[in-house]
Amino acid sequence: MKRRYLLKTLPLLPVAGSLLPTPLNLMHFNKNISKTDYFEELGVEKVINAAATMTFLSGSLMLPEVMDAINSTSNDFANMYELQDKVGVKIAEMLNCEAAMVTSGAACALVLGTAAAITGDDPEKIKSLPSFSGSRPEVIMQKKHRYVFDQAITTTGAKIIEVENVSEMEAAINENTVMALFFNAAESWFGIEDSISHQDFISVAQRYKVPSFIDAAADVPPVENLFKYQEMGFDLVTFSGGKMLRGPQSSGLLFGKKELIEAAKLNFSPHEAPIGRPMKVNKEEIFGMYAALKAYLAKDHDAEWQMWLDRTKTIGDILGELPGIKTSVNIPSGRANVFPSLDVFWPAEYSINAKDVYEELKNGKPSIICNLSKRNNRDIINIGVVLLKDKQVELVAKRLKAILIKQ
Ligand SMILES: *Cc1c(COP(=O)(O)O)cnc(C)c1O
Repeated sequence: MKRRYLLKTLPLLPVAGSLLPTPLNLMHFNKNISKTDYFEELGVEKVINAAATMTFLSGSLMLPEVMDAINSTSNDFANMYELQDKVGVKIAEMLNCEAAMVTSGAACALVLGTAAAITGDDPEKIKSLPSFSGSRPEVIMQKKHRYVFDQAITTTGAKIIEVENVSEMEAAINENTVMALFFNAAESWFGIEDSISHQDFISVAQRYKVPSFIDAAADVPPVENLFKYQEMGFDLVTFSGGKMLRGPQSSGLLFGKKELIEAAKLNFSPHEAPIGRPMKVNKEEIFGMYAALKAYLAKDHDAEWQMWLDRTKTIGDILGELPGIKTSVNIPSGRANVFPSLDVFWPAEYSINAKDVYEELKNGKPSIICNLSKRNNRDIINIGVVLLKDKQVELVAKRLKAILIKQ
């Protein structure tokens, strides 16, 4: 963790004891405290996640600190307006920005941020979304940044205007323009460079007084990213709570300029009808998200990184017992999902392809989901290590080894 970041953040965290990096806060999981095995009762399989934080696999596992926050607050009522306001003040202090709120995820934050930019605090507009009496509001995006989650933008009724460079961006701005959205991980997703840099994007937006929003949903680690984009000048920033922050899967952060956050809250639950109401969070997600952020900021990130590398070594050593098997640690160079995982290569003599290995891991007992990735246009197996429990590390390696030996 960078010293600059530490110095800035330490005085703001409430409990001195929680600041000490301890191996305990790295990768422990909740003990099974229920007498009922609900997985078994419903006949649902427990899956080993040797892939990444994916919504279809229930995201990530909540830290014990998060479960403690949820359990310890679940026996009392809270006024949800007060809770959202007060957690927002605290998170804004922790993240060094004007204001913050807890949403039901980054996709919800995209809806609320756009709604805020459209309505401000105008009750009539808030009530009418996604319809408008006049022209449709417009949100500017780089053409290369168009992605599945931008449907959250058009959910508000806004339309997306695509631009490919700075002069097109300037020309696109008119009285219907309400916001400009930057998809931070576009380069990682699509393997193509941004056509407008962060700095240029922000400076055009600022010059024309158009609020700028950056989607950085999956972009920790590194922890510094939680501070970077508001410092650059983005007016709104979102991160998922249910990815590597390890809060509730149904949580996320939206933070930035106070005026926009206040307007976003007006478009959200607990207000009864606005566009964000069907995406409500209850106090459990709010306290849980807060506890996750606190734990994430206090964590020893270097030690955690080393633990991940150690896991790749353990798996690599076990697979290395087979002739011809090669493994290499993969750390993506982009802005999303930047953490180590293990690429596995085997020679043609093994006569099984990566897809079949993926299926065998998936269909085995217990089911293991790994990543089926492409390197040099070839399918390969990639083992994600960051979501494994300690005792699953060897198990995954041995299962993969057994599948390969069988051939
Ligand atoms: C995961 C993701 C989202 C959606 O986040 P949720 O917290 O699941 O709503 C949005 N944008 C990007 C880039 C993502 O990776």
